[in-house]
Amino acid sequence: MLDKKHVKALRQIVGEENVYDDKAHMIAYSYDATRTRYEPDAVVFPRHEEDVSAILRYCNEHHIVITPRGAGSGFTGGALPANGGIVLGFEKHMNKILEIDMDNMVAVVQPGVINMDLQKAAEAVGLFYPPDPASQDYTTLGGNVAENAGGMRASKYGITKDYVMALRAVLPNGDVIRAGKKTIKDVAGYNIAGILVASEGTLAVITEITLKLISKPKLNKTAMGIFPSVEEAMNAVYKTFAAGITPVAMEFLDNLTIRAVEEKFHKGLPTDAGALLVTDVDGNLDIDLEYQLEEIEKVFRANGCSEFKIAKDEKEAADLWFARRNASQSITIYGSKKINEDITVPRSELPRLLKEIEKVSQKYGVKIPCFGHTGDGNVHTNVMVDGSDPKQLEIGHEAIVEIFKITVEMGGTLSGEHGIGLSKAPFMELAFSEEEINLFRAIKRAFDPNNILNPGKMALDD
Ligand SMILES: Cc1cc2nc3c(=O)[nH]c(=O)nc-3n(C[C@H](O)[C@H](O)[C@H](O)COP(=O)(O)OP(=O)(O)OC[C@H]3O[C@@H](n4cnc5c(N)ncnc54)[C@H](O)[C@@H]3O)c2cc1C
Repeated sequence: MLDKKHVKALRQIVGEENVYDDKAHMIAYSYDATRTRYEPDAVVFPRHEEDVSAILRYCNEHHIVITPRGAGSGFTGGALPANGGIVLGFEKHMNKILEIDMDNMVAVVQPGVINMDLQKAAEAVGLFYPPDPASQDYTTLGGNVAENAGGMRASKYGITKDYVMALRAVLPNGDVIRAGKKTIKDVAGYNIAGILVASEGTLAVITEITLKLISKPKLNKTAMGIFPSVEEAMNAVYKTFAAGITPVAMEFLDNLTIRAVEEKFHKGLPTDAGALLVTDVDGNLDIDLEYQLEEIEKVFRANGCSEFKIAKDEKEAADLWFARRNASQSITIYGSKKINEDITVPRSELPRLLKEIEKVSQKYGVKIPCFGHTGDGNVHTNVMVDGSDPKQLEIGHEAIVEIFKITVEMGGTLSGEHGIGLSKAPFMELAFSEEEINLFRAIKRAFDPNNILNPGKMALDD
């Protein structure tokens, strides 16, 4: 419980109207997308960077813990105030696009800007901000940087880290730092912006973000391949890229997922198919798109694809995307609790990964529908169990641990998208050596010796 004198001091910094400690706000800010709950003691909305600095300096002096929060859409509990203290929110004031510099193709934004708002502002002037997490309509750019978010377009255009040119941030002691420049090249000094990307609010509070924009391709086309088996589809994925074609997206659904979408929406999907691949290509010339699709079809057919459909217009493209876009909500037919992970492997390991997941499914007697961003080697594995049955939950978690081990053995990562936060912290030792974890902890201590920023996350506590 935060002493009232601290609430009063915080009100003196940001104004009465920007500090809340009533029950309704504490409940509203106790959640994120994990649906786990931890109530903070107060929620504070800084008006500008100077406020952030004064708040952090005060909290550091009094050892009050702080959880920075974007939209609370994280899937691993990063924005949960697991140790109470204050939640720092940016949606009220620090939510402005400060500049779109068309000459240098750069945007400067505050952390509370919604991803989609930047995408729209960039497109209005013919520019393009590609990172498009599925949560793009509400997720903030501060949260995207802190989680290094990526989306459907990642296989061609990369993820948030590929667009962060510079950051302004406040250290836990209140000092303000700049990291990076508005230049394409900058090799002076440590890459501090690179360390802050994916730091999940544990090192510093990001107060301004400079992002690279690119020019928007004029044309886009969608195609779908139907495959008899998952293995053939996974071979087709990595062989397409290896053949020199880089689609914008190459997404996948396995048979369990196809059947779930069909049961829910009756769209006439091929329920006997082993897998579907949905792919987008883009460019500025029709002939370029035709070439890419011809090459993709060749690789798909050589790997067992029985049918290859190309959308003729936007409506047909939306139809081809329908099953993928509705995969996540449909698979709930297999169990009330979805233990959803976002493991990622080098693309060429996808066929083996999916085979191993099938073995885990049989060993534990649980259904594991899989779908996801196979163009990035990123598979959403969903262990489906009865959430009211503790035994089933235990089995589900054992299955996940086995999947994590297989992923790491293949040179993959525990998380391609959702980060570590609270939920994956217990698994860090599966993926990192003692020496590597000690280095992470030393970096944490260098930034935050009093451990006031987001303690308990990413297994950083000694
Ligand atoms: C339906 C759904 C779909 C999703 N799809 C994707 C997807 O396709 N790809 C993907 O990558 N993720 C996805 N996510 C996960 C989530 O949206 C991302 O992790 C996103 O980047 C979180 O942004 P947020 O604004 O909600 O941040 P929050 O969840 O509020 O916070 C996330 C982390 O960022 C830190 N943070 C926030 N602001 C700051 C700041 N200013 N300074 C320092 N740290 C800060 C927090 O402390 C926390 O650790 C999805 C989530 C949902 C619910």
